[in-house]
Parts: sequence; structure tokens; C-alpha cells
Amino acid sequence: WTEGTQRDADNSLTELAALAETAGSQVLEGLIQRRSRPDPATYVGRGKVDDLSAAVLSTGADTVICDGELSPSQLRNLEQRTKVKVVDRTALILDIFAQHAKSKEGKAQVELAQLEYLLPRLRGWGETLSRQTGGSGRGGGAGGGVGLRGPGETKLETDRRRIRHRIARLRREIKAMRTVRQTKRARRSRNAVPAVAIAGYTNAGKSSLLNRLTGAGVLVENALFATLDPTTRRATTSDGRVYTLSDTVGFVRHLPHQIVEAFRSTLEEVAEADLVVHVVDGTHPDPEEQVRAVREVLSEVGADRLPELLVVNKTDAADEETLLRLKRLWPDAVFVSAHNGRGIDGLREVIEQRLPRPAVEVRAVLP
Ligand code: GDP
Repeated sequence: WTEGTQRDADNSLTELAALAETAGSQVLEGLIQRRSRPDPATYVGRGKVDDLSAAVLSTGADTVICDGELSPSQLRNLEQRTKVKVVDRTALILDIFAQHAKSKEGKAQVELAQLEYLLPRLRGWGETLSRQTGGSGRGGGAGGGVGLRGPGETKLETDRRRIRHRIARLRREIKAMRTVRQTKRARRSRNAVPAVAIAGYTNAGKSSLLNRLTGAGVLVENALFATLDPTTRRATTSDGRVYTLSDTVGFVRHLPHQIVEAFRSTLEEVAEADLVVHVVDGTHPDPEEQVRAVREVLSEVGADRLPELLVVNKTDAADEETLLRLKRLWPDAVFVSAHNGRGIDGLREVIEQRLPRPAVEVRAVLP
């Protein structure tokens, strides 16, 4: 099911395929359905479910990935109909975040998001049984075998309770880690070290650019979400002023709300920056859409009022026509290639010019 135009749907599906590959899957086939609303029972319409089941059989796929968030019952129904595992965009993104989180805080945030996603989707033995026999679910007397549903439900309740405890604990831990980070940040602003945040769509080249600008060995991966935890490096201007450059988490369209929530604190760091360097992939089929998506997330964390420097990256691989069009569209943008270093010195100069100057004290010296 898809909202918007055919082009939006194609872009979104291409991105979903890239996400699936990042998570280690091999993508076999894509199906798109245009509807005004998702089907409440099966997400896609009845006929499309048959197409889907046929595609699963003919390709031998073991998983169906849907481009959107499925309700717990849609997920269950689709699994029953297709007989394979069904994953939605949210679960897929959470999975990738889990694989890539490195810091203690990043790991805790992903686990929290995963548990919050899991909790309403948890199904027990008892629930499945009573549903199959037409019972009214938990606590219902009819349906489900006596002595079968009972233990299933007890287990389910225990699992739920355990998860809720873990969620509460993770929230406390994250809050404590956040306080530590805020203290560090406060110290930094007392030192009046200007901060530059590198933001941009996933895979736009933020890590590569950070490496180019500071010569630091940050991990660069040709995979969505290589960057989850912000990396901060020091840089020095040509006249000796120190500033920091931070690489921020990647942005993708339809970022699951659990993730936006979980990473809010990390993204909030962007809102404290003095300048946002917004990196755009010049080779992407729809760079404007990427820019819109990133600005949307930036405004959600209140970073839209910061000065923004648009940087079009990958000029070595982008075609001339696109670059000309983007130059007309964004006359103030800086065009670079983190790959071969073209435009990097110029970018460094522009960043330096746009850093806040320390307040200069002027004293008149009288003879
Ligand atoms: P991030 O997710 O925004 O941090 O992106 P990365 O820095 O990890 O880069 C993503 C991919 O794009 C990697 O495969 C890089 O090698 C590639 N890449 C980055 N900058 C350039 C560039 O200027 N030109 C080309 N051709 N590829 C680039």
C-alpha cells in the first residue's frame, strides 16, 4: 500500500530494499499496491495478498517486508496467509539500529525502542489458541484447551511484566547518561568552543566528510545507518580557533516514531550546534526529497532555527546536468567530493566564516 505518487512509492521501495540489504537480506521481488487506505485486516487488499502468497511460493522467499507500520493483527493475518515471517519497516529499521549501535547509550536506546515495539505485539500460546478456536481471548471461558491456555497466559503475563520492568530500567539509565552528556555539553559551551553538527540523509557521506575535514579515522560503510552514535572531533581554523565537528545519526524517511523518540536526545545535540552542515547526496535520484525529510526531523528537535550550510556531496559521481540543476536550486550550497577531496578546502573556509566569532572586547586606550 502506498500514499503519494508512483515516484514516491518507487523511491520508498528502493530505499526499503536498500534497508533490507543493510540488514543482511537478499531482496527477491517488489510489489506495490495503490490504495487510499491500508486494508484494516491484511494491510494490502485481498487480491494482493494472493499475489503476495504466489510470489513467496515462486521465489522461495522466507520473509515478507512491508513498507509501513503494521498493526499487530495485520502482521498476524499476513503471516497466516503467506506462511512466512512478516516484518514491517519499523521492525526492519530497529533491527539495523540494533546491529549498528556502538555506545552504551546507543545500545540502551535501541533496546528500549525494540521493547516498546514488541510489547503490544507479544502473543502467547493462550491467545493464539483461543483465537483459533473462536474464543474471546484472555480470560474467556470458551475455546482453548483447559490447562493449555492457562499456562500460556501466565507465561505471557510474566513476559509482559518482565519487559515493562526492563523498559522502566532502561529509561532510568538513559536519563542518567543524558545528564552526563548535558554536563559535558555545558562545559563545552562555557569554554565557548563553537560546535558544528553534520546532518544529512543516511549514506549522504557524513562520515566521509568528517574524515576529510578532520583527518580522523571514522568508520565509513556503504550501508545505511553506519552512523548511529554521534562522533565528535576537534578541528582548528586557519587562524587557530578550535571548534568541534559532530557526525549525527542518519535520517531516513518515515523514521519509526520509536526511533525518533529513542534518539531524540542524540538529535537534540544537533539543536545545540552553532552551525548545521547539511550534507546532500548529489547522486541520489531525488535530493530535494532527502533535504525535505532531513529538515522535517531537524524541525522536530528544534534545530530548524539554526544556521544551515547545504553541502552537495559526491560531485565526482553525480551527472553534470543534475549538478547544474542543484546549483540553480541552491545557489548558496557548497559542492564537494569527500571521495577525491574536491571542494573540501573551500568548504572548510565557508565553515570558518560562518562560525560565531568570540565577542571581542574593545577598549579605548587614551594617551
Ligand atoms: P553517512 O551515512 O552519511 O555517514 O555516509 P558515509 O560517509 O558512510 O558514506 C556512504 C557511502 O558513500 C560510502 O560508500 C562512501 O564511500 C560513499 N561516499 C561518500 N562520499 C562520497 C563521494 O564524495 N563520492 C562518492 N562517489 N562516494 C562517496
